[in-house]
Amino acid sequence: MKITLLGTGSPLPSATCAGPSTLVQADNQHILVDAGRSVVMRLLAAGCPPPFVSAVLLTHLHSDHISDLNDVITTRWIASPAATPLPIYGPIGTKKMVDGLLAMLSQDEGYRLAHHTDLRAAGGMKLEVHEIEAGHTFAIGGVSISVHETDHRPVAPTIGFRIEHGGTVAALAGDTIPCEGLYGMCKDADFYVQTVIREDQVRSLAPLVPTGERFLDIIDYHSTVQQAAQTATKCGVKTLVLTHFVPAIQPGGEAEWHAMAAEFFSGEIIIGPDLTFVEK
Ligand SMILES: [Zn+2]
Ligand SMILES: [Zn+2]
Repeated sequence: MKITLLGTGSPLPSATCAGPSTLVQADNQHILVDAGRSVVMRLLAAGCPPPFVSAVLLTHLHSDHISDLNDVITTRWIASPAATPLPIYGPIGTKKMVDGLLAMLSQDEGYRLAHHTDLRAAGGMKLEVHEIEAGHTFAIGGVSISVHETDHRPVAPTIGFRIEHGGTVAALAGDTIPCEGLYGMCKDADFYVQTVIREDQVRSLAPLVPTGERFLDIIDYHSTVQQAAQTATKCGVKTLVLTHFVPAIQPGGEAEWHAMAAEFFSGEIIIGPDLTFVEK
């Protein structure tokens, strides 16, 4: 299994970090978890062009996690020789969001269908949307996936994925504070991928920006670096992979983040930049 951090950013724009998105590859399947800003550029850089994407899994419907899903849908469609349906798995509400995307894309779809005989013969963009909840299980090829409840309230429902193949387990958490659902998902995992914030930096930056009060609100519903490390220790995971850096890590700043996590977790700790991968 190979896990690549395609984008380690957040809603805050960054010149170096793409939006939140992680690629899990196993059993010749290419599973995209979330689809943030510039995901298609990072897919190419990771050697996985959109037509190769087997399925998209969404942890929640916050804009930073879905902002370029439309680009994945369109590019996969127009670059594929055979228009196979793209399975999209996400929490309740995903159908409504995807219907909106398809409405947005309908004029473009019409132009391309009018222009290209083979696309017309294949019958337009095809998606298979599955709304899933904690407790559900499904498979992408030989890769088993179970769905777990996370806590990102007031955003709800939010979910994480425990992905297993060939005895290797990866837990992909999305945005959440530590909670029972998260602990169950991460139990004894080889890899635990957690979106994190630096509470100390958020608190020191907030007074300096006009939207400071709103910026402080993000502390309510994300794991801090320390909390992610504590969850990793509590659940006996082998490797902690941090992503979704708020604020973006300055070049060369990874060591400080690493040290903060290492105070609470003695296993391997992996911290971006974009396109960093782990493999087992
Ligand atoms: Zn987020
Ligand atoms: Zn979120």
